[in-house]
Amino acid sequence: MVALEVLGRYEDLIRDDVARRLVEKLKVVWALHHAMSLMGWDSETYMPKLGSRERAVASAELSVLSQKLYLSSEVRELLAEAERRVEDYNDYERGLVRVVSREVRILERLPPEHVYEFSKLTQEAVHVWVQAKEKADFNIFKPYLERIVELSRKTAEYLGYEEHPYNALLDLYEEGLRIRDVDAVFDTIIPASKRVLDRILEEGYYPQHHPLEDVEYDRGAMEKVNREVLDLLGYPWDRARLDVSPHPFTTNMGVFDVRITTRYEGRDFKNTLYSVVHEFGHALYELQVDPRLAMTPLAGGVSLGVHESQSRFWENIIGRSMAFAETVKPLLDKHLGFTREYSVEDIYRYVNTVRPSLIRVEADEVTYNFHIYLRYTIEKKLIGGELRVDEIPQVWADMMEELLGVRPRNDAEGPLQDIHWSHGTIGYFPTYTIGNVLSAQIKYTVFPGGAPEELVREGREGIEKIKETLKEKIHRYGSTYAPKQLVEKATGEPLNPEHFVRYLESKYLKH
Ligand code: MG
Repeated sequence: MVALEVLGRYEDLIRDDVARRLVEKLKVVWALHHAMSLMGWDSETYMPKLGSRERAVASAELSVLSQKLYLSSEVRELLAEAERRVEDYNDYERGLVRVVSREVRILERLPPEHVYEFSKLTQEAVHVWVQAKEKADFNIFKPYLERIVELSRKTAEYLGYEEHPYNALLDLYEEGLRIRDVDAVFDTIIPASKRVLDRILEEGYYPQHHPLEDVEYDRGAMEKVNREVLDLLGYPWDRARLDVSPHPFTTNMGVFDVRITTRYEGRDFKNTLYSVVHEFGHALYELQVDPRLAMTPLAGGVSLGVHESQSRFWENIIGRSMAFAETVKPLLDKHLGFTREYSVEDIYRYVNTVRPSLIRVEADEVTYNFHIYLRYTIEKKLIGGELRVDEIPQVWADMMEELLGVRPRNDAEGPLQDIHWSHGTIGYFPTYTIGNVLSAQIKYTVFPGGAPEELVREGREGIEKIKETLKEKIHRYGSTYAPKQLVEKATGEPLNPEHFVRYLESKYLKH
């Protein structure tokens, strides 16, 4: 295949001598990240349970080493020279300068003692969070979250920001994202989603519960379904893997080594199936990066939000369509058997149940963003100093009731449900909604007729057309363009939440 021949031949795209030297200098950092990704994947999949202490030390040492190398005088000198030349650079060379200078700026501004303290705190906080969640008692976690909020505000001060310290944290997870962008998205989608949800609950075509949710499946049979669905999607098994882990994820060691995981809970097969399709979307982004960018700072998806748009595109726009239900039905019937008693339309309704619920990870595409809106509102106020940590459970419960009409019975169903805050990743949640909104924008602006899901009816050939379009418009560039720039280039407009509203309305209100 041609792709393998050009693997790592970045000189085709990055022509300037200084820029090339910068790439060469950073290759060792890439190699360290390659090793750390593999170690991370291993810890979630096959590492013996008691290996975690030594693995944590090894990862921490390597990450300190990689930071040191990144901030070496050679890298900084080459970067300074490249920055002087940037006017004459092509898009790839400019992308390189943007990515490397952003990384250097972040590493430079955060004092090592602060990074060390934060990492030590969050390592402990994760364990405390697990206990607090088991006992459903927010008070156990509270002092740790207070300290995490305090240190996150310090992070924002070190990084610098305009208008609001939360902007600095948003930017850390989604380059260029600001409060005003996120507010504009929620101002549009929250009222619209509420309207759609009320109608769905009133009409009942999309059920709140479906009998298939209670049916147990045979794990071996389900594994076959998942593998054959990935075959149908053209998952390249010589460059990619599927494994099992408690929390499904995607990781990549390089453009030619991308790995996804799923889990098998033994009943309600849509959960494992759609986690596979979701992670496939993440994997495809990495697999379709121009192989010439491999091993450079431009290899890899540009941001969490753009990444999530790819996973949500496959999971929801494609995967939860009638065309997909029709296509996978024979596979389900062949391996699971019990689905034979149900029609295609039944399968479609089963994978599209909609119900107001307490738990984010169980939420459907209509209610999901309410969960993010709640977390975003709380985070923004915490970082802005308008809300205290001890007020969270009350605010959480009140907002859930107002948004979805449900109230957590305890803290485990409320603010203790997600691991994110214990990891210290305040500012991360909004990227999920950015992904949801962008997936709908891609559907309507990138594909002729705005109906990529219809191509699924053409089988493998149609699916290849979808993949080819995503590659051309988004994937191949890796991190060459900043997220906002890429969105405009690919879709012809800035992030526009109206597409998501149109998607919900056309799917859920016209059937
Ligand atoms: Mg994801």
